[in-house]
Amino acid sequence: MSRRKKLYEGKAKILYEGPEPGTLIQHFKDDATAFNAQKRATLEGKGVLNNRISEFIMEHLNRMGVPTHFIRRLNMREQLVREVEIIPLEVVVRNVAAGSIATRFGIPEGEPLPRAIVEFYFKDDALGDPLVAEEHISAFNWASPQEIDEMIALALRVNDFVSGLFAGAGIRLVDFKLEFGRLYDQNDMPRVVLADEISPDCCRLWDMATNEKMDKDRFRRDLGNVTEAYAEVARRLGIMREMDSANGAGETTGAGETVESEQDKA
Ligand code: C5P
Repeated sequence: MSRRKKLYEGKAKILYEGPEPGTLIQHFKDDATAFNAQKRATLEGKGVLNNRISEFIMEHLNRMGVPTHFIRRLNMREQLVREVEIIPLEVVVRNVAAGSIATRFGIPEGEPLPRAIVEFYFKDDALGDPLVAEEHISAFNWASPQEIDEMIALALRVNDFVSGLFAGAGIRLVDFKLEFGRLYDQNDMPRVVLADEISPDCCRLWDMATNEKMDKDRFRRDLGNVTEAYAEVARRLGIMREMDSANGAGETTGAGETVESEQDKA
């Protein structure tokens, strides 16, 4: 690992140079941050769980024709992805009022929204990722009007599909954040593709029966049992069964689940 060139280190992930041009290795760390990195912790096993959950969702999306950067999982903490030019926006889709929309408009948390709402935030830690209008995005050239339309259409398709996937597991997809990038073809023509990850770190996931939170709000709001909740999401999606039957000895997710060691899959 040490021989690889590190290209970028974020709060929860590291990007390394990939084995071939145009590829990167996305490494999931156990670090958790919230409130613009003012709150920090290491949650043992979180990276392993997010790698698996994101792989599961991205593979489904690839299969149904939603273009993503995901190629394949390499080991317990890493996946091979296509190198894209990240569009500097966080695209949030909301089905139920929670978090910042509940505060901003005084909507009680848990109230279903009249329809799925797509919002854009400018990715800038120093500014605290401000909410922006489409006007800002096109005027400041962060993305073209056509790219904005593509991101909205893709975000709503992802919402439909992933909501169904979680509903089948008894989990309500309250809201989530996506990031998109530009993938250039041989003629240097850009195409918008889904990048980053889809995991409990960037979704709000509530148990449909009890409304219990199964996502990063457990960390933000000091509710405890963070990795246990992520492991329960993985188990309900049918991922943990596969992990349990893996014959490797060793690493635990921190939730009492045994999973194969990094070397087994490397
Ligand atoms: O905080 P807010 O309510 O705007 O978050 C909406 C959704 O976007 C939540 O699921 C949250 O986890 C996700 N999000 C994120 N990264 C951010 C901001 C929000 O993953 N920087």
